[in-house]
Amino acid sequence: MRITVDHERCVGAGQCVLSAPEVFDQSEEDGTSVVREPHPAPEHHDAARRAADLCPGRAVRLD
Ligand code: SF4
Repeated sequence: MRITVDHERCVGAGQCVLSAPEVFDQSEEDGTSVVREPHPAPEHHDAARRAADLCPGRAVRLD
């Protein structure tokens, strides 16, 4: 799994951090998402998928 965030679409809602705190962090500057683990361990895949599903900006991409 590879995770990227489209910063053009990210609205800084922080939903991804709430869903998968091991995978995402939030920028202290503007609140947008920072990917901490672009290649998360298998045990974090479900949380990463949940974060992508819940992202209001549809900014989280999983490949
Ligand atoms: S949930 Fe989506 S819009 Fe909100 S901070 Fe995360 S990537 Fe950005």
